This record gives sequence, C-alpha cells and structure tokens, in this order.
Amino acid sequence: MEKTSAMEEKPTILIVDDIKENIHILLSLLDDYDLLVALNGAKALKLLEKNEIDLILLDIVMPGMDGYEVCRIIKSNPDTKDIPILFITAKTDEDSIERAYDAGGVDYVTKPFKPKELISRIKTHLNMRSMLKSLEFFATRDFMTGIYNRRKFFELGNELFEKSDKLFAIMMDIDKFKLINDNYGHPFGDIVIKSVTKTISQNISEDSVFGRLGGEEFAILCKADSMEEVKQRIENIRKAIENLEEKYQNTIVKVTISNGIALKHASNDTMDKLLKRADEALYEAKGTGRNRVCFRN
Ligand SMILES: [Mg+2]
Repeated sequence: MEKTSAMEEKPTILIVDDIKENIHILLSLLDDYDLLVALNGAKALKLLEKNEIDLILLDIVMPGMDGYEVCRIIKSNPDTKDIPILFITAKTDEDSIERAYDAGGVDYVTKPFKPKELISRIKTHLNMRSMLKSLEFFATRDFMTGIYNRRKFFELGNELFEKSDKLFAIMMDIDKFKLINDNYGHPFGDIVIKSVTKTISQNISEDSVFGRLGGEEFAILCKADSMEEVKQRIENIRKAIENLEEKYQNTIVKVTISNGIALKHASNDTMDKLLKRADEALYEAKGTGRNRVCFRN
C-alpha cells in the first residue's frame, strides 16, 4: 500500500551539487528538513531508488551527467516523475533557464541565492506536492475502506495483467448483504464492509491489486504459481471472514462471502475476459449455496 500521509513526517530534500561549499550552505540553511546529499547525478539517481524524496535541489554544471540530464531521467521514471525539481545554478542566461524548465524542472534559482526566497520557494513546492498527493489519494481510493476504487483497480489491474503470466482474478461478494443492511441498518452494514475489507487485506500478498468495485463487491488480481495455491489462500480468507463476530447491540452477526477464481490464459486473453470468468465462478458459488470458493480454469 502507498503511504497516505508522507507529509506528517519531515519532508526529505535531496541536494545534488558537485561543490562541497554549496552543499554546506544548503545544509545549514535547511535544517528543518531531512536532507540527503549527492555530489553527482549518478549518486543522486541511486539515492532516489532507495529513499522517499519530496523535493530535489539540483545543480546544472556537474562532472559526468549535467543537471538537465539528471532531471530528464528522473522525470521519465514513473516512480520519481512527480518529485518537484528546483534548479539552483550559477547560470543566469535565458537559454539555460528555458532548458531547465524544458527538462522538467518546476523552479529555477540563481546563485548566489537569497536564503529566505529559496526557503519560501521550497515551502511552496512542498505544499503543492502534498496537496497533489492528497488529491491523488482521494481520487484513487474507496472512501469508506481506503482500498483502491474501481477506476484505480482497473488501471493497476491492467498494468499487472500486461506484465504477468501466472495471474489470477478473484471476484468476491458478501453474502446476503442487503439483509444485513435491512436488519441492522446501513451504519452496521458499513462496519461489516470495513471489517471484511480489513480481513482480506491482511491475507493477500503485497503485490496484489485489491479493490472495491461497488457495494459489497470486491476484486483481487494476484500472481501465484498454481490454482491450488490461490484456492488455498482464498479458502483461508473465506474461513477468516466466517469466523468474524460483529456485534450489533447484544447480537453476534455472522458474515460470509462467496468467491470466484479464474486463471489468466496463455493466449488471447484480456482483463475483461478474465474478470468475466471469475464472475461466472462467483455466480456458481452464489448459486450452489454461498460461503464457498469456485473456480474457472
Ligand atoms: Mg556545479
């Protein structure tokens, strides 16, 4: 799962500059932040692989890769493309400034810089980044459960589908959910949905894509070596949910789910077809008594 509130911690700023004196000035100026330092582009790219970085201060003239090239590489990587890059450089000519923005920089400050101005600009870009992250979070999550919404499930699901061979789709549905809402009210229905979601989340692998497609319907895409392995995993989830005990006033309410599993075919398969087969298996599970796991090869 992605981090939901990276901004609660101190933001991390990566400083990239080949001159140690420049770095020392920035280090003393920016002591409110977590700071990482790289003396060249290659080192900066290495640090980006292993750290969550919120903003980059990037020099242009450096031995090896120059700042423009470093910027372009960062902007072409889906994992790092949204990190704001602020160029700090002694170059003041218009062409250099234009090139910096063309390479993907968000701002440009010339040396010698005014400390208060630099800090204000950094704050502005960090705030913007934080807002974009929240927007991204709310646009991709199901509001009630925090798992992926339908749109994001299909987006990430399609990516996983394209790059994985041994892929399985699971469609899940809470049994007789309407009855739960009718008998105990919608607020209790919401508690059940959250509780079921949590149980599923705890029992799937990190690289699975898990989303709420609507109402009481969920879907998972996951990689596995065999149908047997997936059946076992989903069977464990089915049991864990069967064992849940949600309390409504003095009544223990039991909940069950029906599950349909389908395997991605080696040729001529699509995400839609795969989900359709999983859905057929789910219907079979519903039609043959619910609270069970059915599958399609
Ligand atoms: Mg330099």
